[in-house]
Amino acid sequence: MNNEAPDRHAFTRVRHEVVRRTLRVTARQQLTPRMLRILFESSDLAGFHSPSPDDHIKIFLPGQGEAAPAMRDFTPRAWNIEAGSFTLDFALHPKGPAVEWAHNARIGDTLEIGGPRGSNVAPSDFDWYLLVGDATALPSIARRMESLPGNTPVHVVALVAGPEEQPYLAPSPSQHVTWLHQAGSLAAGSSVADSTAGQLPRLLEAINHAKPPTGDGFIWVGAENTLARGIYRHVVDTLAHPPEWTKAAAYWSQGEADGGGSIS
Ligand SMILES: Cc1cc2nc3c(=O)[nH]c(=O)nc-3n(C[C@H](O)[C@H](O)[C@H](O)COP(=O)(O)OP(=O)(O)OC[C@H]3O[C@@H](n4cnc5c(N)ncnc54)[C@H](O)[C@@H]3O)c2cc1C
Repeated sequence: MNNEAPDRHAFTRVRHEVVRRTLRVTARQQLTPRMLRILFESSDLAGFHSPSPDDHIKIFLPGQGEAAPAMRDFTPRAWNIEAGSFTLDFALHPKGPAVEWAHNARIGDTLEIGGPRGSNVAPSDFDWYLLVGDATALPSIARRMESLPGNTPVHVVALVAGPEEQPYLAPSPSQHVTWLHQAGSLAAGSSVADSTAGQLPRLLEAINHAKPPTGDGFIWVGAENTLARGIYRHVVDTLAHPPEWTKAAAYWSQGEADGGGSIS
């Protein structure tokens, strides 16, 4: 006889009507050297719904000069429908329409967004949560840290450029962050971008240490494509974590524009 409650650890899929909205920049906040927060106002937010911390919206970037218009995926970091406010956090990297738009954004500039199209909402009844990501996933990780019940054990493994990026997360007493610094691990002459795939062994080692040995846990991964795939295989194949309790997504792909996509 199966004594498990049927809805234990049940994920909920939600489809949303896709609505396009216009945001207007009200402020810029340089949170850390590589994380730029843009605050917006909008009169279009009625009905905006983002029930999962790993939801994404599309931002629509107008073409400039010879550049074609572009769409990129971003995490709705915070919003308040009554106040008409909306927040996006941009992990700065050398080149791309989204990061360049954020870098040049001035108060009064507008940005079109669409979505989210759908959400896959993880339950809050796991014994623990292990969240693994690079700088692009920190907005989602921060949302999940803020939304889980107060005393839930949360372990984060975060790959960032250096210690100056750490203030972005504000862990509560039941939340622990293992920071890995990319710049400090570089071989002489290589750039942060070149070294991305080489970070996998360090990430796997940190995950092995951070994963609690017992209890039911949810493992979430958001990172560069090669890293996210390598972490997913390790978690499911080597650590034998149940695939249905593991969600991984490529948040970007080295050398490829708009390279995000889900893995599991
Ligand atoms: C579900 C989801 C949610 C996301 N949420 C956020 C978010 O809230 N904040 C955020 O900053 N990003 C987020 N991302 C990642 C973001 O969509 C990508 O980094 C995107 O490629 C940035 O677009 P771009 O126009 O700046 O660069 P692109 O034109 O897409 O890429 C140009 C070049 O830059 C490289 N590149 C792209 N991103 C990075 C990076 N982070 N570091 C180094 N090189 C890079 C590419 O490989 C390519 O060679 C999210 C992605 C997904 C899938």
